[in-house]
Amino acid sequence: MNLLIIGAPGAGKGTMSDILIKNFDLVHISTGDMLREAVKNGTPVGKIAQGYMNAGALVPDEVIHDIIVERFSKDDLDNGFLFDGYPRTKAQAEDLSLILKQLNKKIDAVINLDISDEDLVKRITGRRLCPACGEIYNIYYKKPSKEGICDKCGAELIQRKDDNLESLETRLSEYHKNTQPLIEYYEEMDLVKNTDASKGVDVVFEEIRSFLEGLC
Ligand code: ADP
Ligand code: AMP
Repeated sequence: MNLLIIGAPGAGKGTMSDILIKNFDLVHISTGDMLREAVKNGTPVGKIAQGYMNAGALVPDEVIHDIIVERFSKDDLDNGFLFDGYPRTKAQAEDLSLILKQLNKKIDAVINLDISDEDLVKRITGRRLCPACGEIYNIYYKKPSKEGICDKCGAELIQRKDDNLESLETRLSEYHKNTQPLIEYYEEMDLVKNTDASKGVDVVFEEIRSFLEGLC
C-alpha cells in the first residue's frame, strides 16, 4: 500500500506516520526529516534548504524533485511507503505522478488531516523532539515523564528552529496557498480520506486504521 499524508504544520502527520508504518509495515519518507538531515550534515541540498526552512518557506520544487528521485533509487519501497509532507505543491504532485508512472507504481490513498489554524498553535509551540530516536512530544499534550528528557532513550529533547509563532504564520500561509489545493487534486482521483485531526491520537488512528483495512 502506497500512501500520502497531508495536513497543515502540526496537524499530526509525523505522529500518525510513526503509528501507521508500524501497523501497516510501510517505509516512512518525510521530506522535512530528509531536509533537516541534509542541513545538519551541511550537504549542498542542506545549504540551499536551510534559509527557506528557518523562515517557514517552501524549499524550491527542483530541490525536492532531486531528493525524491534519489530516494526512489534505493530499492526498499516495493512493499509500500508513506510520504509525509510531500507533495506540497501542485508541481510536486504532478512530478510525483510522473515518477510513479515510470516506476509502475501508484498512490492508493491520501490521508488528509483536517484541523483549524487555531488548534495548531499549541501543537507547534509545544512540540519537542528527541534528536536520537525521533520520538515526538508536546509540553501540553504529550509530556515526557521527566521534563526535557526522552522517555524512550534518555536523550535531551530539542525544539525545532521553525517551531515559533512567526515561522508558523508563514508555514500556514504556504500551506493554504500551495498545499491545501492538492486535496482537490487528489479528490478528483477519488483518493482522499478526510479525517478530523483535532481529536486525540488514538481516535484519529482508529479512524484511519479502519479506512485502510477496508482498502486491503
Ligand atoms: P506534523 O508532522 O503534522 O507537523 P506532528 O506529528 O509533529 O505534526 O505533531 C505536532 C505536535 O502536536 C506534536 O507535539 C505532537 O505531539 C502533537 N500532536 C500530534 N497529534 C496530536 C493529537 N491528535 N492531539 C494532540 N496533540 C497532537
Ligand atoms: P515539515 O517537517 O514537513 O514540517 O517541513 C519542515 C520544512 O521543510 C518546511 O517548512 C519546508 O521549508 C521544508 N519542506 C519539507 N518538505 C517540503 C516539500 N515537500 N516541499 C518544499 N519544502 C519542504
